[in-house]
Amino acid sequence: MNKIKTNISQIFSQKLLFWYDNNRRNLPWRAQPGEVSNPYFVYLSEIMLQQTVVKTVIPYFLRFIKKWPSIQNLANADFDEISLYWAGLGYYRRAKNLHETANFISKNFEGKIPSSKKLLLTLPGIGEYTASAIIAIAFNKRSNVVDGNVERIFSRLFKIEKPIKDTKKEIFNYSEKYLPKKRYGDYAQALMDLGSLICTPKSPRCTLCPIIDFCRVGGTVNAKLYPKKQIKNKKPERFGLFYCLLNENGDILITINKNQGLLANMNVLPSVGWYEEKKFTKNLLFIPKEESLFNLEWKIIEKKLIHIFTHFKLNISIAVARIDQSLLLGDESDINRYKFVKTKDLNSIALPSLIKKIIKHLQDENIILN
Ligand code: SF4
Repeated sequence: MNKIKTNISQIFSQKLLFWYDNNRRNLPWRAQPGEVSNPYFVYLSEIMLQQTVVKTVIPYFLRFIKKWPSIQNLANADFDEISLYWAGLGYYRRAKNLHETANFISKNFEGKIPSSKKLLLTLPGIGEYTASAIIAIAFNKRSNVVDGNVERIFSRLFKIEKPIKDTKKEIFNYSEKYLPKKRYGDYAQALMDLGSLICTPKSPRCTLCPIIDFCRVGGTVNAKLYPKKQIKNKKPERFGLFYCLLNENGDILITINKNQGLLANMNVLPSVGWYEEKKFTKNLLFIPKEESLFNLEWKIIEKKLIHIFTHFKLNISIAVARIDQSLLLGDESDINRYKFVKTKDLNSIALPSLIKKIIKHLQDENIILN
């Protein structure tokens, strides 16, 4: 029985590798067929590909290897220059890790990328996936390289009914069983290419797939429904009331948010609430001499306005009133905290996107002028 299973996995990898030999992507960090991989190129590309797509990485990779053709060159570089070459790729911590690792390898391993996974895992910026990929691709060692492509492919091959988050171990084990007996680097890259060219997230091209005979959903309309999606919990809702207070010239009151946490120390419109229930009223006023504000003529804008934060959804109401500036200010500290800003100057002060959204709404409603 085991022998039969082994044979199936070997036929699987043969079909996949045959397809790869004829369809592989030509990427600048890859060795040409018959050539040996350059471990520095593999390492550099894997770091750049963390959180960034291949198309974006290619020009950066080419500029890097032209400027720093070896890991020693990179180690000797000035970090400010590396940052400059990295600018636009995002996640700058990666550039810092790259430089630190290059220095470490240069000093401790005579400029040679280690071929041991255990050692690789001790280096800054190299985690489980990156170490596995370097081991397979740069050194052709047996290594189970499981990225998002592999997870998608195997969850389709085995028609896994749970979201990936809950089946990582299961997918890892399946993937381990299907490893070939040689060509580990090519096999890892074949799965990457299959995931990128054929078994794509939204429209898998099953009729062109070299492993369709092994796939439990291949060729059916259900293929694209795998991996199963994680059911997202509905975001909690909160309700906040924002004040649009205008002086006699139509200038709008902006305050510096003293509170810690969200929007701390930023320019904001005064607000109250942000409760989980809609329990604010226009009498929940906020600033010195507040009793003097009770009698203002408030207009509540009821039109639904929403802002989505990472952890909750904020339902926004806006209360508008005209106010005599002298009613507003208490002691010296208030004078520094509150300011009336001319609407034409709103674009030149830093405002969080939530406040920009409210101001745009007020402009659209002709409550404040552009
Ligand atoms: S047959 Fe279709 S769903 Fe299955 S692995 Fe191939 S492309 Fe993906």
